Amino acid sequence: MKKLCSFCNKIIIDLKRMVIGFKVFICDFCVKLCNKILKKDIEDFYEENKNLLPSPKEINSILNKHIIGQKETKRIISVSVYNHYNKIFRIKKNVDISKSNILLLGETGSGKTLIAKTIAKFLKVPFAIADATSLTEAGYVGEDVESVIYRLLQNCNYDVNKAQIGIIYIDEIDKIAKKDLSSSNRDVSGEGVQQALLKIIEGTIANVPYRGRKFSQQEIIQVDTKDILFIFGGAFNGIYTSKGSNIGFEKKNKDFEITPNDLINFGLIPEFVGRIAIVSKLKKLSKYDLKKILYKPENSIVEQYKNMFIIDNIELIFKNDALEYVANKAYKLGLGARGLKYVLEKYFIRLTYFVVGKNISKVLINKKSIKSREIINLTYRNV
Ligand code: ADP
Repeated sequence: MKKLCSFCNKIIIDLKRMVIGFKVFICDFCVKLCNKILKKDIEDFYEENKNLLPSPKEINSILNKHIIGQKETKRIISVSVYNHYNKIFRIKKNVDISKSNILLLGETGSGKTLIAKTIAKFLKVPFAIADATSLTEAGYVGEDVESVIYRLLQNCNYDVNKAQIGIIYIDEIDKIAKKDLSSSNRDVSGEGVQQALLKIIEGTIANVPYRGRKFSQQEIIQVDTKDILFIFGGAFNGIYTSKGSNIGFEKKNKDFEITPNDLINFGLIPEFVGRIAIVSKLKKLSKYDLKKILYKPENSIVEQYKNMFIIDNIELIFKNDALEYVANKAYKLGLGARGLKYVLEKYFIRLTYFVVGKNISKVLINKKSIKSREIINLTYRNV
């Protein structure tokens, strides 16, 4: 039986050298041609990106515009990210340099997610966030590890080349620590997820199920994860006081370096720790840092509120004592920078309700305004 190649229309004589699809046939010649086109596509893509790679200093200066404090982490991460993309775009393919996945330790609201997000935005690479606690081992009810790659694909309109050089941030990695360190039994909630993550963080061809318009029902998209940069985040509360370390150690040596052993003693499995090349501990943000976060970064909280009100022709003026009050209150909440919005939100709900549509041109916000949540210090527009 003779078949025609659906692409070049030639007769396929040797039926073994043909791929049969649903009502279509493709000869070996066309398969090779397609491979060449795809390979060229990838090479062009890498060539285009090669000259766009910023230096570690440039990456650091972008981070400085958005992230207050965390000087050491910003430097470490600038270099690691540079190395990662330098390896992908500029170093010859046959030179084998191992992947540099990153672990950021730090309390909630200290800037871990913001750092990862800012880098991805600046480098214009796709970015996806996942919560380690929502991930499950394949076969269990919940989100499997491939779903994280799927999210990355979604964020670059299913451009596989782009997804393959994206950044994935996995938060709360400390929550999937092995609970019973003495047991060799695998526990599904913690160790199982770490096991499931191993392959994709090291580099594998992940088969990501796709259900959507662009591909027909239940297609599989293959994504090579070897160049995806994984950044993990977690608070790792009490890491120094965990099993195997000296009790009370944390208090005495706050800036002590975290070793792979500390992570293993905390409950990360050695294979997982082995795939993390860089560990950096973020500092607890001081009251001074929190105050700066209010007004200093690009698109800061103060700027956001100002922009919101300017739409209604209302100018907001923040006095220094207001910023100090908010920073102090937020510091006491212990939620890092997340506390800032929490402190401001109730006041701003009241303010928006009372001043919008009232012929008010200016609001001066001082400590008393925020503390009492009274709507005071208003300037009315002359009509
Ligand atoms: P986490 O460390 O829990 O990942 P995030 O990075 O999500 O914290 O921070 C929450 C929010 O707090 C950010 O969106 C940002 O507005 C603010 N924030 C946190 N840390 C910083 C920082 N160091 N500099 C500037 N803003 C910060």
